[in-house]
Amino acid sequence: MKAAMLYGVEDLRVEEIEVPKVGLGEVLVKVKAATTCGTDLKIFKRGYTEKIIKLPTVFGHEWAGEVVEVGEGLEWPVKGMRVRAGNSAPCLHCKMCQKGKYNLCENMIWLWGAYAEYIKVPARMVQVNMQEIPTHLSYEEAALTEPLACVLHGAEEANIKIGDTVVIIGAGPIGLLHLLTAKKFGASKVISIDLVDERLDFAEKLGADETINAGREDVIRKVKELTDGYGADVVIEAIGLPATWEEALKLVRKGGTVLEFGGCPIGTEIKVKTEALHYGELTVKGAFHATPLHFKKALNLIASRTIDVRPLITKRMKLENIREAFEILTTSKKEIKIAIIP
Ligand SMILES: [Zn+2]
Ligand SMILES: [Zn+2]
Repeated sequence: MKAAMLYGVEDLRVEEIEVPKVGLGEVLVKVKAATTCGTDLKIFKRGYTEKIIKLPTVFGHEWAGEVVEVGEGLEWPVKGMRVRAGNSAPCLHCKMCQKGKYNLCENMIWLWGAYAEYIKVPARMVQVNMQEIPTHLSYEEAALTEPLACVLHGAEEANIKIGDTVVIIGAGPIGLLHLLTAKKFGASKVISIDLVDERLDFAEKLGADETINAGREDVIRKVKELTDGYGADVVIEAIGLPATWEEALKLVRKGGTVLEFGGCPIGTEIKVKTEALHYGELTVKGAFHATPLHFKKALNLIASRTIDVRPLITKRMKLENIREAFEILTTSKKEIKIAIIP
């Protein structure tokens, strides 16, 4: 089969490899659509922790497809079923899982291999994080279950309430998903911040009430201006840089919540003013990944079009041209998500 193998930083090659063999409890799926993701781009450009991705590997983690082979011992799923799965499966029995923090599982397994003709789903993942896709839903929409699951988890942590003003730093794919989600949580005003005008225009089309270009405007002053001098009820950082993590703390009102959502490079630190936490009663939270429950909910929200993810897929390309897709994502900020069709 054809597969896009990642060997190292910016070293992605489309190769012919063996179709994976299916064992006990495993399932082979023909990939019908896989979507590019900010995490993929980050790994492509600067590498990542070995705990999550071991190179070389078939790349990509957002996908959906059709079951073509079912391993021994399984009554579900069946051949021909439309499914999505992963990209993670917690063990259910470690200390973190037993606390209900499945996203922090100490024995988490991760599934890579979406940019290929076929993908093999491990037995544990078939059990805890594989779902059937309703017939009306396209494969590319279903592939967006993973990023939406993470965003949903973040939005729950951020505790957005009806009528809140929410600032979202970053209008890339994740920032835009946060925008759509915050609106559904009842935010009455969402302010999107980015450096790229095209992305801010996009955010506006998706429902942002105000946009700020951080390259041209004083972000802190502008947010204060738009919030009667108080700052936002909730601020979500969706970029993953220490500088914007710190900036987020300056945009929130007293008693508000900052959700530091974007993953920063390992080893970095931020400064927090003690009086902001004490006298200002800030809540500062991180959010990592998602639990199987979030994946299931995210798929339901996409399927019911409660959260319509269709506008986020701005381009479709063939698997053979995946290098070109990553070059486009690296050099231009115009495309949000590219669907790779094997
Ligand atoms: Zn992703
Ligand atoms: Zn666990």
